[in-house]
Amino acid sequence: MRTSVGWLTIAMTTACLVGACTTTSSVPPAGSTTEVPRTAQPTPTGATLGAADHAAMKVDEQTAVTAVDTFWRRHFTEQFGQPYQSPRVAGAYIGTHGPPCGGEPASVPFNAVYCRPGDFVAWDDNLMAAGYSQIGDAWVYLIIAHELGHAIQARLSSDRVSVAAELQADCLAGAALQGAADDGLIAAEPGDSEEIARTLAAVADDYPWTDESDHGNAEQRTSAFNTGVEGGVGACI
Ligand SMILES: [Zn+2]
Repeated sequence: MRTSVGWLTIAMTTACLVGACTTTSSVPPAGSTTEVPRTAQPTPTGATLGAADHAAMKVDEQTAVTAVDTFWRRHFTEQFGQPYQSPRVAGAYIGTHGPPCGGEPASVPFNAVYCRPGDFVAWDDNLMAAGYSQIGDAWVYLIIAHELGHAIQARLSSDRVSVAAELQADCLAGAALQGAADDGLIAAEPGDSEEIARTLAAVADDYPWTDESDHGNAEQRTSAFNTGVEGGVGACI
């Protein structure tokens, strides 16, 4: 993730690779928002990163958290007229060994979550590693920006949260990543745009074994993300 303008804009013709993400509901659920990745790509078995690559991924995770949270700290209040408090970042867990959410296990293997009762985001290290190795570093930025998008939704009155909460989280992710780039907090590098597109395709609900209402298909998710990139936060609400 380094460089030029327009890097986040994605062609709508992106092929769908696989799916991975959340649960949808008109309003963010009381419990954790569980992101359910799909079979194929990236796969847990593909989550083999060498120590150096894994360390690089951790740096990307921290950079993503800092950039996106800084964006929201700078712009949330001007956008919504209310104070902003950063959510907690529980960070990586392994498999089922994650932090509990509202008294229940929140850590779903090969998943990423935003826990509303605990107001934290967390992700399975294997999910991050699989996407990082099979798609690229933009995967990390998108997953984290999406989960932090759920934290933003939790801070808003329910009438501002879209019925399509997952697509709105994608939109907020696009707005925050582009906004962070505009603020000079991160910069894109060649290939990021394609990686983002592949990530959205990978987490899309294009397969019958997932409830289709959950996240939206690849085209819908890409469209939502681009709406945020091009229109900013206001376009997502
Ligand atoms: Zn989600």
